[in-house]
Amino acid sequence: MTELRLILGDQLNPEHSWFRQQSDHVVYVMLELQQETRYVRHHAQKIIAIFAAMREFARQLREQGHRVRYVQLDDPSNRGSLTDNLDALIAYYQAVTFSWQLPDEWRLDEQLKRWSATCAIKTITVDSEHFFCERHEVSAFFGQRKSWRMEHFYREMRRRERVLMRPDATPEGGEWNYDAENRKPWKGHPAPPDDHRPMHNHTALWHTLTALEVPSFGEAHAGDFRWPLDRKEALGGLERFVRDDLRHFGDWQDAMHTDSWHLFHSLISFALNTKMLSPREVVANVQAAWQRGEVPLACAEGFIRQVLGWREYVRGVYWAKMPGYRDNNFFHHQRPLPDWFWNGNTKMNCMAQVIGQSLDHAYAHHIQRLMIVGNFALLAGLAPAQVHEWYLGIYIDAFEWVELPNTLGMSQFTDGGLLASKPYVSSAAYINKMGNYCSQCKYNPRERTGENACPFNALYWHFFIQHQSALGHNPRLSMVYHQIKKFSPQEHENITQHVKNLLIDIEKL
Ligand code: FAD
Ligand code: SF4
Repeated sequence: MTELRLILGDQLNPEHSWFRQQSDHVVYVMLELQQETRYVRHHAQKIIAIFAAMREFARQLREQGHRVRYVQLDDPSNRGSLTDNLDALIAYYQAVTFSWQLPDEWRLDEQLKRWSATCAIKTITVDSEHFFCERHEVSAFFGQRKSWRMEHFYREMRRRERVLMRPDATPEGGEWNYDAENRKPWKGHPAPPDDHRPMHNHTALWHTLTALEVPSFGEAHAGDFRWPLDRKEALGGLERFVRDDLRHFGDWQDAMHTDSWHLFHSLISFALNTKMLSPREVVANVQAAWQRGEVPLACAEGFIRQVLGWREYVRGVYWAKMPGYRDNNFFHHQRPLPDWFWNGNTKMNCMAQVIGQSLDHAYAHHIQRLMIVGNFALLAGLAPAQVHEWYLGIYIDAFEWVELPNTLGMSQFTDGGLLASKPYVSSAAYINKMGNYCSQCKYNPRERTGENACPFNALYWHFFIQHQSALGHNPRLSMVYHQIKKFSPQEHENITQHVKNLLIDIEKL
């Protein structure tokens, strides 16, 4: 009569209704899989964090009296792939039922669907009880519309979930969006928070991973490991953020500075994406802090928009458009990633800083991902598939359902404008305004061409000149094309020649 219930590595939600009752007929199955360590090259901290959090989850389930079969990567019975392990465990336990929570990644969803179609025993899927929306609610909301603006969806979510709403169904403060107030550069005050995250030692796990030759890159920090690994730690991080940093989040959300790699960002994405935290409690906590008068409305709204708006929205785009979304390449960009993406050895200080901190911490905040690395990748015409694999590997929070639409749709514009109303690119002027990277750079942010000119400048203008037929009609780019019209033929020629030289020598930038 045994039922096996699969718990995937990003389904570490102890509040799931599965765990309300203990039964000797139910065995929870947790698997450390070679297939999951190899579908892309992952940052060392990401692999450690997921396996260590899974082990802790299994320990706590056992402590509560649940039966758990946990198969470690180095367990001799481990067959490597998900489905081979499941076949073996079903036979071993003579299970009559197999249940799993809906996976968030298309890859695993397909694998389980195909396998269950030939499975001899009864199979059941249940919801992961995590998101505000079901998988296909976003696509139902947008229907046949050509562009899917997040803002429309977000307002609907605010109404539906009654978040920051007045009783008369108008938004608190009278505005839906306070984004314009969230764009300040940070000049050293207030002081950014110390790193309050928990400290763990995962040297033994790291030795196992290296002995098994699990491919990885980036700093492991196994002996001083800082990501939260269970719900208690994750809740502690959320509460501290809401109490101490949320009030500063709005103002400096877009700022970048060499003195702080995360400024006032929450660092909750790993805990959220592995479901240790629920987005509902995150939104409720932030709303409550505003109701208590502890944070301004603009801060609370700006933060809630990320979780209730963007996070649910990109997941909806993913499920609506997969698997084809992965192959979009609106600009037909093909250039391979330069080697310095993997070590940060570039003279462009903004890129060196953001790639460097990503290798060190498996983290960069949103604007660093979008307006530094993604900006360069798009301007330089890097192959979107390679850019996607880099993002999917390097960040601690990178799971395809959230990474792919952000990387390909928002950052690389590969869908031609479904997700973003225009490409998110900038010249050095924006980077210089929002941070201090340029003040310590070999390149000059004010020059367009010439030996010391910042590469972002010529690349920026060249990008729009090159893609005029695709982008020239976009009303949001009229200023850009108005400016280009004023360039002399000589300026056009200088930009083209300069970009040609930059890209030939991209490895040396
Ligand atoms: P905060 O800035 O404190 O924001 C709070 C929370 O809001 C985040 O934890 C996250 O859950 C949510 N959020 C904010 N922006 C987004 C967004 N655009 N999409 C979805 N959720 C959002 N986020 C991931 O979780 N995984 C990824 O793999 C990922 N890849 C990205 C790739 C690119 C190119 C870009 C531009 C963004 C990506 N993001 C991704 C979104 C965002 O950058 C991260 O969620 C955020 O930096 C995580 O850090 P934090 O927890 O400190 O977030
Ligand atoms: Fe980056 Fe250019 Fe500024 Fe250097 S000058 S930090 S390359 S934007």
